[in-house]
Amino acid sequence: MIDDLLTASDPRAEVRAGGVNAHTHLYSGLAPLGMPSPPRTPRSFVEILELVWWRLDRALDEAALRASARLYVAEALLAGTTTLIDHHESPAFIDGSLDVLAEEAERLGARLVVAYGATERNGGREEAKRGLRECERFVSLHRKSPRLRGMVGLHASFTVSDDTLREAGELGRALGVGVHVHVAEAKADVEDARKRGYDGPLERLLALDALPPTSIVAHGVWLDEASVRRADAAGAWLVQNPRSNANNRVGWPRALWASEHVALGTDGFPADMAAEASSLAQEAAKQGDTRDLAALHARRLGAHALCATLFGTRFDASIGPGSAGDVVVGVADAKPQHVVVGGHLVVRDHALVRDDLAAIRAHAREQATRLWTRLPPA
Ligand SMILES: [Zn+2]
Repeated sequence: MIDDLLTASDPRAEVRAGGVNAHTHLYSGLAPLGMPSPPRTPRSFVEILELVWWRLDRALDEAALRASARLYVAEALLAGTTTLIDHHESPAFIDGSLDVLAEEAERLGARLVVAYGATERNGGREEAKRGLRECERFVSLHRKSPRLRGMVGLHASFTVSDDTLREAGELGRALGVGVHVHVAEAKADVEDARKRGYDGPLERLLALDALPPTSIVAHGVWLDEASVRRADAAGAWLVQNPRSNANNRVGWPRALWASEHVALGTDGFPADMAAEASSLAQEAAKQGDTRDLAALHARRLGAHALCATLFGTRFDASIGPGSAGDVVVGVADAKPQHVVVGGHLVVRDHALVRDDLAAIRAHAREQATRLWTRLPPA
């Protein structure tokens, strides 16, 4: 099939591995469609969560989530990103929420890894237990699905109790999957863990056995070199999200170089991995961080290696996730002309094969307008 596609392509076109986004949020897909500004300007990272993202996630119902996921996945495929590793939260619609994300990825033909980020921030321990049950259900259902995998998820150390952390770790080990969790994204997470008597959030997760092998530690902005080495030794992957970190002004991750297992994610920004990589280069240059500039290529390859680990496929650093059959055909540094996922053609001549982007956008705008009326007060 690839030969046929190349024959029908721009003569300058080449075949390259599909992009992998190692940490993102499909639930934020409608946010660019006119989400109202917060009632006041957030003064800290926690206020960005309280005034923006936690109001959005509390307003999500099934229809809004479905439209959000459909738009996000469609735009990812058109940008040549074939795998999305999603971290999901929709507190008013927990049970079955991961199925909605999976159905939309399957419909359009993307590869997807999901986890529900269990938290106690709205409904205490009962809310956390429901989040973990949703992960358990999904992981068990999709152990052998060709393009879907589940993980256990936690929102972040600072929104859960020790009991929830222990249960997440136990569940991950019982299911043989890792835990996907935000760690040290901002200084507040570190301060919270210290107040609870731990050296930091990573140390808290490790002390409570909440990081089984192949866990995903998103951000790690405020982890020092020793903590990054501890994460690496535990078999966890760190995910750097430069556009999000710059946008939220949480700081620059100075110690990620100390791990061999770091991947690139977009944390809810569109899944255009070339744009994310160029942000990483710009931010690293601004920070004078030559180590991170050198690591740019490694970050993108890291996401491919993580994807191969999660799907149990072969990884060859020279070709990317070759055996997964996820490739894009196109001219270098341009949007791909064709996209193939798991051997199926999902984008042909810059257009989705299984749906229509204009129709997806129109439906997303309708759902977004309805969603903005549902935002709870700050
Ligand atoms: Zn995130």
